[in-house]
Amino acid sequence: MHNLTNKEFDLQHIWHPYTSAIDPLPCFEVSGANGAEITLASGEILVDGMSSWWAAIHGYNHPALNAAAHQQIDKFSHVMFGGLTHEPAVNLCRQLLTMAPNGLERVFLADSGSVSVEVAIKMAVQYWACQGRPEKSRLIAPRNGYHGDTFAAMSVCDPVNGMHSLFASTLNKHIFAPAPQTRFGQSFSEDDILPLEELFTRHHDELAALILEPVVQGAGGMRFYHPQYLRRCRQLCDTYDVLLICDEIATGFGRTGKLFGCNHADITPDIMCVGKALTGGYMTLAATLCTEDVARGVCEGSPGVFMHGPTFMGNPLACAVANASLTLINEGHWHDQVKAIESQLATELKRCRELACVQDVRVLGAIGVVETKHPVDMKHLQPLFVKHGVWIRPFGKLVYIMPPFVISAEQLSRLSDAIYHCLKTTYG
Ligand SMILES: *Cc1c(COP(=O)(O)O)cnc(C)c1O
Repeated sequence: MHNLTNKEFDLQHIWHPYTSAIDPLPCFEVSGANGAEITLASGEILVDGMSSWWAAIHGYNHPALNAAAHQQIDKFSHVMFGGLTHEPAVNLCRQLLTMAPNGLERVFLADSGSVSVEVAIKMAVQYWACQGRPEKSRLIAPRNGYHGDTFAAMSVCDPVNGMHSLFASTLNKHIFAPAPQTRFGQSFSEDDILPLEELFTRHHDELAALILEPVVQGAGGMRFYHPQYLRRCRQLCDTYDVLLICDEIATGFGRTGKLFGCNHADITPDIMCVGKALTGGYMTLAATLCTEDVARGVCEGSPGVFMHGPTFMGNPLACAVANASLTLINEGHWHDQVKAIESQLATELKRCRELACVQDVRVLGAIGVVETKHPVDMKHLQPLFVKHGVWIRPFGKLVYIMPPFVISAEQLSRLSDAIYHCLKTTYG
């Protein structure tokens, strides 16, 4: 074990996300990351197309985020949140509530996106139980959703392609509606909402909440749908007394061209989850926001408190960095950066449509998607992208990028060129 190289030890002993322990693909070892670039231990420098899964929006090794981490770690890096509070948490929640859709007034700090979804679901269920309506305990979700890997989060992911079908028998049985069909930018067809409306009329007495990703369905298919669908969801929830949970973990903080996906539809959810880019990709932190009505509803009656409290809740180090990240967002450069990325990707990815292997090309905000007709071979494509000097990690039929907002036009061209050439040489 002691004379293995890092790469060998990693292959033999360490799990990576969704990988085999028996037949793992070797990982690329990173020795540094700066701006929109990742440096490998082998010396190659890659342009980053992934923002480390939507998170590193300001790029890596950012001086303001580094300074925030240094300053906080020299004071204290963690104290328990039960009975204690601190400035990093207060400042972060102050900023977060100012930025969030109007009407969200309470924050529960969670350790990861999946946990914030667990918290949102528990809030919704506890809310109705405390209102004397415990039968309202099921959730409804559109298909093609993705909400995380823990059990309650898994139970509302797409039941087929949500990566969790293996666990179906142990999951709570929730209700699934067809995914929204009208694309972002098309004219909205009111028929699109009918299947969901029908399910609401039939099941509202047992429904605690509707959960969905606003405007962009991420890991469940990278689908961009019409904001009017979201507006109709808000109306249905109001009409039928069902809470609306918006999962903004991927869409939050500017990625879709608005600060939050909800802003495209001018709605306020009852409960909202944020994560991923919350700390600018520095460390794990998420939050569940809710309205005053939900917060009061949850805490009325017995037991009178919200039943959740992780050990590392409100970690001061993570809060300090998140606070610095929100300050950067509030400086407002993201707006023009995301716009520029959107128009450049729309121009540069267009030619992928000529390729026989390509089914669809779509761009929204700082997200570019090339969907192929058949699943791509990661074993082949991943090293090929690295050879082209880019970090892009395809998934099934989806070759997609969501680069750091600070990426230069030249770096972005390298990403779109690599997608075109690698797909062309591999599949034609
Ligand atoms: C990534 C993601 C999650 C899960 O977040 P983790 O931090 O990986 O637990 C939940 N919902 C959405 C929309 C996501 O993109």
